[in-house]
Amino acid sequence: MPMIRILYSDIFREHKPPDYHPENPRRLDFAIAGLKAKNLWGNIVEPRPAGVDEILEVHSENYVEKIRKASQIGFHYIDMDTYICEKTWDAALYAFGAAREAALMALEEKGIYLALVRPPGHHAGKSGRAFHASTLGFCIFNNVAGAAKLVKNPEEKALIIDFDVHHGNGTQDIFWNDANVVHIDIHERDIYPWSGYEWEIGGKGAEGTKVNLPMASHSGDDDYIFAWEEIVMPIVNEFKPRVILISAGFDAFKGDGLATIQLTEKFYRFAGASLSEYSLAVVLEGGYSVGLKKGLPAFVDGYLRGEVKEDAIKPSYETLKVVEKVREILRMFS
Ligand SMILES: [Zn+2]
Repeated sequence: MPMIRILYSDIFREHKPPDYHPENPRRLDFAIAGLKAKNLWGNIVEPRPAGVDEILEVHSENYVEKIRKASQIGFHYIDMDTYICEKTWDAALYAFGAAREAALMALEEKGIYLALVRPPGHHAGKSGRAFHASTLGFCIFNNVAGAAKLVKNPEEKALIIDFDVHHGNGTQDIFWNDANVVHIDIHERDIYPWSGYEWEIGGKGAEGTKVNLPMASHSGDDDYIFAWEEIVMPIVNEFKPRVILISAGFDAFKGDGLATIQLTEKFYRFAGASLSEYSLAVVLEGGYSVGLKKGLPAFVDGYLRGEVKEDAIKPSYETLKVVEKVREILRMFS
């Protein structure tokens, strides 16, 4: 049985709103219930908080200071979507630290290291909002970006795969000009944060290292599996990274609530199994209900079992078009 560790602390429940908000501590209850139901809850590692110096590797001093001060004020909204409370600062330091620790553990021994953290991070850019997004989209510090900074070095590229239903615009912003970070992002097209189109390929000198797969609304398992097999896996297998960092949102699950993509356990199990030869640092992003209960355990279980069931798949015409466009773009840079 491959190694599994879950980095979790109750401090991730302390970032919370007084009234209803989809990004709330109950998300962790859904995730834990789902993992327990599959006998996957255990091997818990209490994370350590990141130091401010570590956060400054990915965010500007102004932004970090803004969050620290906002947290001292107590509960309020810093934009239309994103709240901060008096415990947000501490929770965010631990979330960032947990993602980094997951990456270190994944470098040390092959396995799956799940940073079950809140607040999420992939919409947080270098100085806050990213790529003209209107808000921070519930995110505070970019946890997966912090993990990527640990993995990459002059000889080694870091690989981030983001399958949250929303584009990881913050991650793309942070590494836009960095050719040593390959960022593959599969998400729903034309929804928040309104970026992540095929032609967003990276800045000068880093062209081709950012790969966006904007999927048509109502896409399902077959569409995602097709895109994964045609675009994601060839990059992974050519790259053969020591560690793969996953921005793991489960809000593309059918009925999760914030989008129209209709994935089921089938895709998440497939995705986990397809990466079973690699060491994974999995950092929680979105997922608001059933996606956490069913998608998350399916992904972990797929990884641990490691078998991909080959079924005939039928992608939609829109998916074929997106994949062909991305393939054409990639050919220009290979
Ligand atoms: Zn999301």
